Amino acid sequence: MDTLVDKIRQHDRRSLAEAMSLVDSDAGEAARLKDLLRGATAGVPWWGFTGPPGVGKSTLIDALLTRLRAACRRVGVLALDPTSPVSDGALLGDRVRMMRHAEDRDVFIRSLATRRCAGGLSDATLHCARLLELGGFDPVLIETVGVGQNEADIASIADFCVVLLGPGYGDYIQLIKAGPLELADVVVVNKCDMPEAQRLLGEVREELRHSARAAAESEGGPAIFGIEAKSGKGVELLLEHLLARDQSARNDEARQRAQRRRVLSEIRRSALRSCAQTMDRALADFSSTSVFEELVRGRSSLSTVASQLGADALAALTSGAGDNSKRTEAARNTRR
Ligand code: GDP
Repeated sequence: MDTLVDKIRQHDRRSLAEAMSLVDSDAGEAARLKDLLRGATAGVPWWGFTGPPGVGKSTLIDALLTRLRAACRRVGVLALDPTSPVSDGALLGDRVRMMRHAEDRDVFIRSLATRRCAGGLSDATLHCARLLELGGFDPVLIETVGVGQNEADIASIADFCVVLLGPGYGDYIQLIKAGPLELADVVVVNKCDMPEAQRLLGEVREELRHSARAAAESEGGPAIFGIEAKSGKGVELLLEHLLARDQSARNDEARQRAQRRRVLSEIRRSALRSCAQTMDRALADFSSTSVFEELVRGRSSLSTVASQLGADALAALTSGAGDNSKRTEAARNTRR
């Protein structure tokens, strides 16, 4: 394990890829490597990018990569795709564009898809981003699709989060108004070569002014940029802003905060997984009880039973997680 870590530190790409597969699979020494990584990293800012498919995330990251490389930065990219399976790190569709940078030894691009990750996409992201850090990549860029839980998780582990919008995503705009804009430190309206994007930019500005007024004055809102990722128009200005954020994320206090946030999110997901497993076992038992039948017929209140089952599952967890033969109190009582 120490040899693997040393090789990654010495910029050995094959060892880096091998370690990523290891943390993905959860096999063998994965747990030890993860513990090691936790203590050895957290010095590099992670930039998060999210937005609906087709909005231009890959095009933007491609444009940023070109510019960051020109500034001699070694850049790591994690491209998360919760929907389409990819094989062996190959990237699908327009992401292929980014791959021209993969020839560059100072760029490392890794694609992650749900089916590959034993502990879920967010876990894999966290460990792979740490591995990129260990391999000397700085910054680490994380691209995610959509507005689901994964994105919220990833926003919580990234140092700052860029939300991309574009014309033709009316529903998406409504959706993000309802919440995920809160995740955004930077809002980017792409495809400003199209008239609808200009209209959208105005709408987003108005919306954010509105919500900034509603929120505490001191907090301020996210920065807003209108760009054309394809032609590169506006990208310089955006990059300047991202580099300023990157810089202010580098002080000791910010690094400590980022590390603590990441470890908390790691614990949360791990604990939730244990809880869900215990709960599933309890439910399997519960579904054969008379109380369950009463519920199905609408003759009793679900919320009381649910909170009792939850409390019993927690008690079962603390008194011996992983014991398959354990029966929850609720299930036992209702069988009497
Ligand atoms: P992703 O799915 O969010 O990664 O989106 P892509 O980067 O793959 O881009 C989706 C499509 O939008 C591609 O056909 C791009 O060429 C196109 N695109 C990206 N940026 C722009 C832009 O600034 N203007 C226009 N008109 N099209 C763009």
